[in-house]
Amino acid sequence: MKSSSFAYRRAATAEEAVALAREAGEDARFLAGGQSLLAALNFRLDEPCMLIDIGRIGALRGIRRVEGALKIGALTRHAEIAASVEIAKHLPLVAQAIHEVAHPAIRNRGTFGGSIALADAAAEMPACALALGARMHLLGPDGPRRVAADEFFLGLYETALEPGELLTHVEIPIPPAGACHGFAELARRRGDYAMAGLAMMLGPRTGAGRDWARIVFFGIADRAVRSPSAEAAIVAGAAPEECAACATDGLDVFGDMNAAESTKRHYAAVLLRRELDRISDEENRV
Ligand SMILES: Cc1cc2nc3c(=O)[nH]c(=O)nc-3n(C[C@H](O)[C@H](O)[C@H](O)COP(=O)(O)OP(=O)(O)OC[C@H]3O[C@@H](n4cnc5c(N)ncnc54)[C@H](O)[C@@H]3O)c2cc1C
Repeated sequence: MKSSSFAYRRAATAEEAVALAREAGEDARFLAGGQSLLAALNFRLDEPCMLIDIGRIGALRGIRRVEGALKIGALTRHAEIAASVEIAKHLPLVAQAIHEVAHPAIRNRGTFGGSIALADAAAEMPACALALGARMHLLGPDGPRRVAADEFFLGLYETALEPGELLTHVEIPIPPAGACHGFAELARRRGDYAMAGLAMMLGPRTGAGRDWARIVFFGIADRAVRSPSAEAAIVAGAAPEECAACATDGLDVFGDMNAAESTKRHYAAVLLRRELDRISDEENRV
């Protein structure tokens, strides 16, 4: 199938992109790497009146160290994240997860910001952003604003972005010393979207428990979701099997073409148990 017709404009700056979107109205779309948007157009899942190409806005690209955080420009490609020494050093969760995003050809074009803005429920980067307590920086007609990851992902392909608002960059706090991460996903083939996935950050040890925990499941609900029950159990120092047993308590889990709801709950529990066991083995070895 071919897409319906649309106007095309290329923006030279973020401000110009926002101004073009304002002129064009609600049905304009920003075009970043095009890896998801162009497929949606060709399947006529979306019929925008205008594409605003932001792909050449240099200011939206790159990874920079700022006070206690890494700032990732929205147009930074997945492949650049995978190759970044700063990401490997400071955000090993992202460094591990990025290799599970699609295939090399898609990682060469697809962008970090595109993945966050699209908010696919089974995507790795939104889950990592949530686990790491990222802050999304947006630019709209009324100027810039900042939204915490906890308030950004609202539902199936739904975010706090208002129509015509541009995600300019994501700021991810560098985890403190003593924190550790876990990541695991189940997919039919390497590079496919996850049937169920886990991205987590654990704060420094305090006795048998942890200072804090951010446990995020993806591919099991309408968006990446934190598990308050598992987080509380981990902080309280419960055994891995107890934490896993309550992994999806209170969460709205959906079945899909890959697995029934009960199977997804089982997958989530297994992933959490495995990662907690791995971390505990590694820490006991030190
Ligand atoms: C075969 C295939 C397999 C894939 N597998 C995976 C996978 O396993 N895991 C995964 O996470 N992803 C996967 N993807 C998606 C891929 O990661 C995309 O690159 C990503 O989701 C979107 O990034 P993009 O730059 O291509 O965005 P685009 O396709 O250009 O845009 C996507 C949407 O986000 C909006 N948008 C983009 N940038 C901005 C911005 N800065 N501000 C506001 N809105 C913006 C666009 O308007 C559009 O609505 C797959 C894609 C394909 C084709």
